[in-house]
Amino acid sequence: MIEDKLPDNVTALPLRPVIVPRDAHCISRRDISDEALRVLYRLRNAGYKAFLVGGGVRDLLLGMHPKDFDVATDARPEQVRELFRNCRLIGRRFRLAHVYFSDHVIEVATFRAEDTDGEGDGNDRVIHEGRIVRDNVYGDIDDDVWRRDFTVNALYYNIADFSVVDYVGGMHDIAARSLRLIGDPVERYREDPVRMLRAVRFAAKLGFHIDPASAAPILEYGQLLEHIPGARLFEELLKLFMSTSARDSFRGLVEYRLFERLFPQTWECLQGDRDGRARRMIDLVLEATESRMAEGKPVNPAFLFAAFLWPPMRDLADEYIGHGLPAFDALQRAGDAVISQEVGRVVLPRRITRVTREIWELQPRLERCAAARAGRLVENPRFRAAYDFLLLRAAAGEPVAERAEWWTRFQSAEPGARAELRPVGDDARPPSRRRGRRGGRRRRRVEAPAE
Ligand code: ATP
Ligand code: MG
Repeated sequence: MIEDKLPDNVTALPLRPVIVPRDAHCISRRDISDEALRVLYRLRNAGYKAFLVGGGVRDLLLGMHPKDFDVATDARPEQVRELFRNCRLIGRRFRLAHVYFSDHVIEVATFRAEDTDGEGDGNDRVIHEGRIVRDNVYGDIDDDVWRRDFTVNALYYNIADFSVVDYVGGMHDIAARSLRLIGDPVERYREDPVRMLRAVRFAAKLGFHIDPASAAPILEYGQLLEHIPGARLFEELLKLFMSTSARDSFRGLVEYRLFERLFPQTWECLQGDRDGRARRMIDLVLEATESRMAEGKPVNPAFLFAAFLWPPMRDLADEYIGHGLPAFDALQRAGDAVISQEVGRVVLPRRITRVTREIWELQPRLERCAAARAGRLVENPRFRAAYDFLLLRAAAGEPVAERAEWWTRFQSAEPGARAELRPVGDDARPPSRRRGRRGGRRRRRVEAPAE
């Protein structure tokens, strides 16, 4: 009986799933990747149940191209591994099988259940302060469905008869373009606060609204994100922003007061943003990210974080300069301070923060743009990102447009003609040898470090 299996937080009681037959939905095997089909068929031929589930089913029902396919089965992870040579088991918190193909991975998850019968060893499902920290009690599809987050993510495409199995009204919510959590929203957010970020992400990506009962608690429970490991927040941020709906993700995070929890320093700048530059910087970098993603060009997350954290970094550097620190030192110190405070919340990996710093530290050098040294600077592996960043700052309203143009001309000039390019701005003055000595604030702001 399904009723016996329902977790406490599920109040709606569908008596049996709705089975949507092949001719009543639009999912065709032609739209499913060959690799996903191979995994589904091999599981089925070995006598297991095999379903496509999650974003793949949801996106196909919406006529979109899924970015990946997830498979759910009653085979245990070890049994999945026996069927596929190209398979690895991963994850402790949530044990999964990854089946590798030349250019992508199919994730195969065994159905999960509540640990109600005590069958597990007491360590398989671990709940700490209402949060699920481990979830490895296995079950059947009618157990598995209730632990999924949104109804539209809990539809199962059955490879046995090509039907869609719907326990939770997901088909209705797809048609209504609504994101609705399964069960009691507060409890579901408590179990896993990242679901708040997922709500915003899916709303942005799919153009759905968040059902009022699922939306309301986000404002109240946003602080629960503080319990989430910073590395997981970083992964979620990448999904939110490295996307063709990056701007809607940002708007959603602001609307639900989550942005201020993830980027408190940037948020503070946005509050006092009299000249609107901080906001423009963010809008522009998100717009650029969206178009690059749409064109299939690579996007560098370090560039994104460099832009997000630039406004607080710039303010702090100005403060240090006001206290008499040379511009480059001020920038370095402010960069360290802003990054280490951010990393206390969202763990940006070192390989990212290193590049973020390099982009920042090249700014004063680009601002100086002395023709004699420019050729060498162009060779710097980080030049392109730093130049793009200078363009971004110019577009956001910082007084660096002339320099940005100079670099544009410099790069398109023939090597022989480069030396002829007239310097602009402060660089038009004779080179100074007084680096680090007392002088006016403006002069120091544009000083470059020794090369
Ligand atoms: P996309 O892959 O487009 O980002 P998705 O819905 O496939 O979206 P995944 O993170 O790939 O998202 O997860 C696959 C499925 O696993 C989800 O559709 C959902 O059913 C379930 N799931 C993932 N994360 C959670 C979570 N935090 N809480 C509950 N269920 C989840
Ligand atoms: Mg997915």
